[in-house]
Amino acid sequence: MRARLWIATALPALLVIVMLVIGFAYRYGDRMADALTDRGVASARQLGSAAEFMVFAGDREGLGRLAEAAIRNDAQLHAVAVYDAHGQLLASAGKLEEGQPSLGSALDVQLGERLRVELPIYPTIAPTDDLYTPTPSAGIAYGQGARLVGHAVLEVSLDRLAQQQRELLLWSLVTAAGGLVLAGGLATLLASRVTAQITAINDVVTRVGQGALDERIDGVRSGVLASLAEGINAMIGRIATTQEELQFRVEQATRELRHQKEAAEQAARTDTLTGTATRLAFTEVAEVEMQRALRYRNDLSLLMLDLDHFKGINDEHGHVTGDAVLVHFAQTVQQQIRNMDLLARLGGEEFVVLLPNVNAEQAAVLAERIRGAVSESRLMANGRPLRFSVSIGVAQFDWRELSLTRWMSRADAALYRAKAQGRNCVVQDNGGCTPAAGD
Ligand code: GH3
Ligand code: MG
Ligand code: MG
Repeated sequence: MRARLWIATALPALLVIVMLVIGFAYRYGDRMADALTDRGVASARQLGSAAEFMVFAGDREGLGRLAEAAIRNDAQLHAVAVYDAHGQLLASAGKLEEGQPSLGSALDVQLGERLRVELPIYPTIAPTDDLYTPTPSAGIAYGQGARLVGHAVLEVSLDRLAQQQRELLLWSLVTAAGGLVLAGGLATLLASRVTAQITAINDVVTRVGQGALDERIDGVRSGVLASLAEGINAMIGRIATTQEELQFRVEQATRELRHQKEAAEQAARTDTLTGTATRLAFTEVAEVEMQRALRYRNDLSLLMLDLDHFKGINDEHGHVTGDAVLVHFAQTVQQQIRNMDLLARLGGEEFVVLLPNVNAEQAAVLAERIRGAVSESRLMANGRPLRFSVSIGVAQFDWRELSLTRWMSRADAALYRAKAQGRNCVVQDNGGCTPAAGD
């Protein structure tokens, strides 16, 4: 890309320079030729006027000296010849090399390998000869329609012209080369600046693509690339803002989901009717307590509770009263146990109490206290006090057992025996029924 940019920048400048140099060389080459011609004609006129009287007088010797002197005085003058009116050579110096002169009656200038000037010589009219004849400002003029006296012919060498033209060409070439170097240098500078800026932009865009949204294009401050860089920076800013917003929203949604999950988990662990723990919560806590009891050889006991003839309560007083009985029962049990104990509803009118650091005997005592409190409690239903009772099975955790299910089965079996033995009593899984004395 850099090379193409270089060509695009340098080419117009190069073309302009080359065209200027060629035009200049042509123009000044022509002017130099014109100047040489003018000079040749002037020399011929000078020679013609100097030779006029000698030609008239047939002074060959004088003319010879004149011709020699002319050649001596002008290094570029290659040959000089003077003819009379009949074309007879009167005198010459140097050798005419452009062939025989035509010797016409008018000035003839030919530019071949040399510059040949043929000048017809007419008699000069001196201003003092005739006061009434108008004279040119130069003071000397060839008489109009006067008789031809002779011809002055001279050849000028073009060597100097050629040398001047060569010098001009050389100068033009040097100028062009300088121009080329300058244009090339400028193009290189421009190309490297532009490519450096494009590379900088490209680097930033790549890093942004890799996720570095705090990157910005810096140092591109002029031209089209500056507005491109500005646009890209604005775009990165917008992407960064959008990403921040998205991130914020995702975090918000995540927090909300976490809350909902915690609420759902909490709900799954709390019984909606009685506010006690659920079977799930009980299982989790019981597993932990079993591990603790195993490790520290702590006592750990379990009460399995089931309301007696609850179906009958429902049937007699209705489902709503049945619910109220369940709530009332849970509250009664809760009042009898410690904070570290856990009351859970397993389902229906079936409950369990987990008792850490309590052995079977202590558990049986507590169970008995619970049974008593329940049987003594009264719930007002339809204006009448409602009594109900609970049967309880007691089982202590056995360190060799290692199974919550089997431990619960033992408590359940004790409860079953309590039911079988007439309800409203407490049974240890290895012991007998302990009905309350007064019930
Ligand atoms: P037992 O003394 O042998 O335990 O007899 P029971 O009637 O208490 O036991 P049974 O299993 O026959 O009946 C339990 C009843 O509990 C049946 C069911 O309708 C009722 N029940 C279960 N869950 C709820 C509840 O959430 N609310 C109410 N009101 N009743 C429930
Ligand atoms: Mg039951
Ligand atoms: Mg029951």
